[in-house]
Amino acid sequence: MRSAQNHSPVVVNEKDPQQKQTSAVKKLEQCPFCDSKLLFTHDLNLSYLQVVETSRCPGCGVTMRPKTFTLH
Ligand SMILES: [Zn+2]
Repeated sequence: MRSAQNHSPVVVNEKDPQQKQTSAVKKLEQCPFCDSKLLFTHDLNLSYLQVVETSRCPGCGVTMRPKTFTLH
């Protein structure tokens, strides 16, 4: 008696990691409210050696939380 067909199929539920990355990038560049492309402005603060990046939505006027980068 032979029962070679006894292994259950392996279901691989793997999502494309590249697709995930793309949506993450999209989220940063687009307004979460109206999907407009965000406008980025960079202000150089020389006295603190910092660059403040502010993103603003031209569609609904929402200003995102500014990010601060320190220069070295
Ligand atoms: Zn918007």
